[in-house]
Amino acid sequence: MYPASTRSENRVKQFEDLHDSTNWAIIQHDGWHLPGTFEKHDWCGKWAYRGCLNVAGHFHNETFRGMGYLKTFQRSCFRADCEICMPKWMGRSSNKATRRIETYEKQSHRKVKHIVVSVPKWDYWLTKKEQSKKAMQVLKSLQCVGGAIIYHPFRYDRPLKEWYYSPHFHVLGFGWITGVAENYSKNGYFVKNLGTRDSTFSTFYYQLSHAGIKKRNHSLVWFGDLSYSKLEVENFDNDGMKCPICEEKLHELVLIGDISHKPPDTDIELAVDVDDFAIVKYERDEEDEREDYNPRLEIMKQILNETF
Ligand SMILES: [Zn+2]
Ligand SMILES: [Zn+2]
Repeated sequence: MYPASTRSENRVKQFEDLHDSTNWAIIQHDGWHLPGTFEKHDWCGKWAYRGCLNVAGHFHNETFRGMGYLKTFQRSCFRADCEICMPKWMGRSSNKATRRIETYEKQSHRKVKHIVVSVPKWDYWLTKKEQSKKAMQVLKSLQCVGGAIIYHPFRYDRPLKEWYYSPHFHVLGFGWITGVAENYSKNGYFVKNLGTRDSTFSTFYYQLSHAGIKKRNHSLVWFGDLSYSKLEVENFDNDGMKCPICEEKLHELVLIGDISHKPPDTDIELAVDVDDFAIVKYERDEEDEREDYNPRLEIMKQILNETF
């Protein structure tokens, strides 16, 4: 076992390797394909700002006295298919999934396990739905009470630098008896226990990086005790959306002052002159949808492009 830092560097390298493969963008099976292979929107990855212009509430803070607070961010469509936003999709999905796993770990006093269920060759012609039905039966027979399941239609041939169809399921789940899952086969569905060497987040992140993607299908499915109907998970902690100085809700901001006052295209927090920025008005004001497509925002952007 290597130290954690080396491990994550290896992960990054491994991931770059995989993406450099010859057929990442073209391999597909029954509509299933790898993430990050479709075109971005023209606004994906563009820098934008949110912040707080509540000067009165900033009086107590020396740095921000008389000033507004601004934080940069990159717009994202959060689609698995987007060539630019794929890592953001991976990050957001892994965060949500990790919270769900950790909630259950706390409630059940159990530790999550990572196993792989491989589909036998003679079932390769079945649809994903049929394969996953069989995989679920195997999980049931192992007394798995629930978890997350990620479909991987492809495996990677490193020497050939090629992906090939070899369907299997990664499961982060709970409840099977230790030892049984070390080496277990039922109806030819082979189960391999991968242990819990990495953090839950990095496991999800890595597994999603080459997960199967298909329209109208979820890349990550919850089942059993961890399904949406059975486990309630506290909502996303929105503190990041609050002004760190006065705790008012942050708004999207647009530069109306001189172009020389434009914040740099990088992750940064700044004290800004409130006369330089205006609040963008949204039709819907839902936190989760802020970074998603919004027609009003598109209009604002057109105005911006014309101005600068
Ligand atoms: Zn995108
Ligand atoms: Zn504030």
